[in-house]
Amino acid sequence: GVVGCVLPWNFPLLMLAWKIAPALAAGCSVIVKPAQETTLTTLRVAELAVEAGIPAGVFNVVTGSGRDVGEPLGLHMDVDMVAFTGSTPTGRRFLRYSADSNLKKVVLECGGKNPAVVLDDAEDLDLVAEQVVNGAFWNMGENCSASSRLIVHASIKDELLKRIGAYLRDWKTGDPLDPENRIGALVSKSHFEKVSSFLDDVKSEKLSLAFGGETMSGVFIEPTVVDGVTPSSRLFQEEIFGPILSVTTFETLPEAITLANDTNYGLTASVYTGSLRNAIRVSRDIRAGLVTVNCFGEGDATTPFGGYK
Ligand code: NAP
Ligand code: MG
Repeated sequence: GVVGCVLPWNFPLLMLAWKIAPALAAGCSVIVKPAQETTLTTLRVAELAVEAGIPAGVFNVVTGSGRDVGEPLGLHMDVDMVAFTGSTPTGRRFLRYSADSNLKKVVLECGGKNPAVVLDDAEDLDLVAEQVVNGAFWNMGENCSASSRLIVHASIKDELLKRIGAYLRDWKTGDPLDPENRIGALVSKSHFEKVSSFLDDVKSEKLSLAFGGETMSGVFIEPTVVDGVTPSSRLFQEEIFGPILSVTTFETLPEAITLANDTNYGLTASVYTGSLRNAIRVSRDIRAGLVTVNCFGEGDATTPFGGYK
């Protein structure tokens, strides 16, 4: 049938590929609506598809806003399925569009607030620090599977933060075309405003800034680590989609699992431990679609990607 593919802006080519490749391979035609911020990537792939001889009408692109293009696609009686990645509120809308039209299939991928749980038996804190930094700050944190909550045993927090600080010295912020820099601009001015509003919370909640916190030129935010974040904080609960990592401590394993699960999200998680038994226990008890052990990972092509809640 006809598959509507509605894309976010954070990985313009990858998100497109994830959606169109399975649909085309299954013999479906696609109608792609890219995010307005990153439309040109999709148009270039469409040009290449034509050059490669794809039959007319199989790979279609409609550009425009969510209101003007996404909504009509979601409500269309001749669209058999929608594959969507983006925010939870928009994901909910696609379920409603389906209910209000032809009950089309809807596949949603709607973000995360993913925990990195570090137990006191973690063997190599340098490795943990490197993985936590990558998980939190890769792609400016504009990543649904970003490990944005560090949940660490109280007895090793200071030592781990020290090593995270050492890794962060290499994460310079600035012109993304300069290979010296690891953190470039956020995608747009309005997204910058949203992300930097969480820095205001750091001040108003009197939280302590372990690293970073500076903004530059109205589009850059330094990799930022906020200590002492409690579950009631917006920093703990909401998907920030920027380079801000929150730190929360625990004393017992059940407490760590409760903290990890204490959000509306359940996409990915990581656990760091030297004990196979603890690795299995935490992986089982955290409600997340993908749990990685002693590393940050996005899964691989042979594992499904999706979450709970
Ligand atoms: P979004 O607003 O949910 O947009 C995703 C896609 O849905 C875009 O193509 C958008 O079109 C379209 N859309 C927006 N409103 C719509 C509506 N009423 N009906 C139908 N389609 C609609 O997400 P975003 O603007 O890309 O990013 C906002 C937040 O989403 C981020 O801050 C982050 O929290 C989350 N996000 C999650 C992921 C993920 O991988 N899970 C990826 C990106 C973003 P427009 O071109 O008009 O925006
Ligand atoms: Mg948008």
